[in-house]
Amino acid sequence: MISIKSQREIELLKKAGNIVYKTHQYLKQYIKPGITTNELNELAEKYIISLGATPSFKGFEGYPAAICTSVNDEVVHGLPSNYKLKNGDIIGIDIGACYKGYHGDSAWTYAIGEISAEKAYLLEHTKQALFEGLSQVREGNYIGDIGNAIEQYATKHKLSVVRELVGHGVGTSIHEDPDVPNYGRPKTGPRLKEGMVIAIEPMLNLGTRRVAILDNKWTIVTQDGSPSAHFEHTILVTKNGYIVLTGE
Ligand code: MG
Ligand code: MG
Repeated sequence: MISIKSQREIELLKKAGNIVYKTHQYLKQYIKPGITTNELNELAEKYIISLGATPSFKGFEGYPAAICTSVNDEVVHGLPSNYKLKNGDIIGIDIGACYKGYHGDSAWTYAIGEISAEKAYLLEHTKQALFEGLSQVREGNYIGDIGNAIEQYATKHKLSVVRELVGHGVGTSIHEDPDVPNYGRPKTGPRLKEGMVIAIEPMLNLGTRRVAILDNKWTIVTQDGSPSAHFEHTILVTKNGYIVLTGE
């Protein structure tokens, strides 16, 4: 069931989303060559707690860390480790925060030092694919309109769309109905209504769309080892558009 949020719930979701946004801004200064993904995880966890929230992902379905840190060919659910970031890497950082029972969820992919032209291309167009999806959000449009816009944009730019993982509703649970795929046909799927809160999160690859899961049972990687990027915002659907809850 897709829930419509009350004004009180929207205020709490805005607060949770803002904590996620602030955590991304805070982490940015540390996302540099030489830092380990474990260190980024610890910094994020402490910061989220200092803002009166808890990391949504920790313990969710048994997930062992506060954030996800997905490097290079890791698509999503990269586990923080002793890996030291190095010049030329890209890292997708996915952050969820829970404030008074309500969640926010946002991922961003960052460049470490100087990256290759093809990785820069991947980042630029995956971020734009998120905004192409967002441009379809308004009351009366369909979930399929969002996925179709993302898929069309990705295809036009010769990037492939990961299909095994999708966006989702957000509320008192970090993952609620509806699923929000990054592909689809216009005018299909559930209809958007004012007061819905959803996370839109394209995951695009430079090579094949096919993915595999690592032995740690969490981390999704591209099958061909090509780089992958991930951008995500949690948004509130309004009559004429949307409000980003995990942005400025
Ligand atoms: Mg996320
Ligand atoms: Mg999400």
